[in-house]
Amino acid sequence: MFNATFPCPDLTTFCGLHGLGLEATGQFLAPDRAVLACRVVATDEWCRKCGCQGIPRDTVTRELGHEPFGWRPTTLLVRIRRYKCTGCGHVWRQDTTKAAEPRAKLSRRGLRWALEGIVCQHLTVARVAEGLGVSWNTANKAVLAEGRRVLINDPTRFDGVKIICVDEHVWRHTRHGDKYVTVIIDLTPVREKTGPSRLLDMVEGRSKQVFSTWLQERPQAWRDAVEVVAMDGFPGSKAPQPRNCQTLLR
Ligand SMILES: [Zn+2]
Repeated sequence: MFNATFPCPDLTTFCGLHGLGLEATGQFLAPDRAVLACRVVATDEWCRKCGCQGIPRDTVTRELGHEPFGWRPTTLLVRIRRYKCTGCGHVWRQDTTKAAEPRAKLSRRGLRWALEGIVCQHLTVARVAEGLGVSWNTANKAVLAEGRRVLINDPTRFDGVKIICVDEHVWRHTRHGDKYVTVIIDLTPVREKTGPSRLLDMVEGRSKQVFSTWLQERPQAWRDAVEVVAMDGFPGSKAPQPRNCQTLLR
């Protein structure tokens, strides 16, 4: 018997909006898409220029592609209050940086879904774009930027790595041939049962060439300590063949 307690169903919690500083205020469900009306929870009424209080002036809306629930895209329609300062007349809008990067078209959860979809689930950029209800270019740009942000913000990502997985994805079909991206993932936490795999790097190009160059840029001691699996394959589609890095470099 399943023994958990069941709090009241609640769209804000179910859709992970708390963490984005948002609250669901309405829903519009169509067969091909779901739109959630949201408001920004935190008020933001103090002038950034002079510190005086602002008065609400009007509201603007911002559309954000969110993680899909089921096969239809979920879009957040965020109502953002604009304030006018009673002291200096400055006008500003409520801070939404918890929900998304400035000017981004995807919520932070939408972005995370896209990155995990491509890196872990082997979805194509086209499929991810469809899931988010945004254009191919929007999805592509957002995912590459997020990959870089996650990676660059973690200079210690190479520490303690013992087992890595290298995989290539068709990034885009073009008239002049397919473009590829090679994804390098740290599987150490999976093997040691301490957590999920981690993205180590994403490099444009096909895995064999890209990976040997990438590996040569790592210190010798690091290379010697690392085991490489699942070169050129979908995880699970064939048994991973553990290989030593030295073998791949030859
Ligand atoms: Zn002011």
